[in-house]
Amino acid sequence: MKKIVSKIINGKNHSKILLNEITKLTSRYNSINNRQPCLAVIIVGHNIASKIYVKNKIKTANLINIKSIEVSLSEDITEEDLLNEIKQLNQDMKIDGILVQLPLPKHIVEKKVINAISPFKDVDGFHPINFGNLVLGNKTIVPCTPLGCWYMLKNEVKDLSGCHTVIVGRSNIVGKPIQSLMLKENCTVTITHSKTKNLSNITNKADILIAAIGKPEYITKKFMKTNSIIIDVGINRLNKKLVGDVKFNDAIGIAKKITPVPGGVGPMTIACLMYNTVKLAFSAKNQSFNEILL
Ligand code: NDP
Repeated sequence: MKKIVSKIINGKNHSKILLNEITKLTSRYNSINNRQPCLAVIIVGHNIASKIYVKNKIKTANLINIKSIEVSLSEDITEEDLLNEIKQLNQDMKIDGILVQLPLPKHIVEKKVINAISPFKDVDGFHPINFGNLVLGNKTIVPCTPLGCWYMLKNEVKDLSGCHTVIVGRSNIVGKPIQSLMLKENCTVTITHSKTKNLSNITNKADILIAAIGKPEYITKKFMKTNSIIIDVGINRLNKKLVGDVKFNDAIGIAKKITPVPGGVGPMTIACLMYNTVKLAFSAKNQSFNEILL
């Protein structure tokens, strides 16, 4: 059999191209409205990973002329006080997008917080109204990580129509929204989870395999189909190194294309967050713009 030379999908390069296009949009917004689009990021407590994620988001925003406001709140803030903070940001006309960095401390109900963000400022696309529109196939704000996966797949696969896509993981922030996006592309979609029986018998029939499990290097050779495309959403720490949910070295020589960790889905998530911020800023003013993504 012919040896497969696996291509590594470079998420950093994809995100650079996208950020370049978004910069054009921010300049246009600025010239029409005489201010930058503005993203407010709320971070509660001292979770080190969350702090790194927020720092990277703010750094990217600054680079492409999006104003960012970091709201750092103490670990023991009450749910009511957090909801009040969100209410104030909802009412602030100078703020276009609001992001609450997850996870939140255990005493705060995540769902209440997500629902409190105005759907018109919901950069993460987690609000039930935006999520519902996604499932219905309507125009909406699409969650950033799924949007980033979709963008890479659209650029890397000539025709997604009819491809069997298997998603491992059914979370509201990754697995379920990706399911809707892939269905919209006319893929045949199978979504799997921790109770799925004989997982490898399903995944090894996938033309496109998307892993969003949160278990380091769980997807090994036996889960993969020859010549498939593998998108690794996972970010895990293993022996002080960042690894994905896919055993990368197993995929080399089996998959046609694979995203690395780091440098795959991660940079795309941030780029899509920037896009959603700009999209909300234009939409709030009823101004048309070049819709480079969904
Ligand atoms: P969740 O923990 O919310 O969901 C994990 C999903 O995986 C669940 O649906 C769970 O099933 C399923 N699962 C767990 N174990 C197995 C198993 N053995 N077999 C099959 N399915 C399994 O995680 P998230 O969706 O939030 O994140 C997934 C990964 O993606 C994490 O590593 C996270 O860090 C990363 N991530 C990366 C982002 C990026 O920008 N690159 C952004 C967001 C997340 P069940 O529902 O039955 O419990």
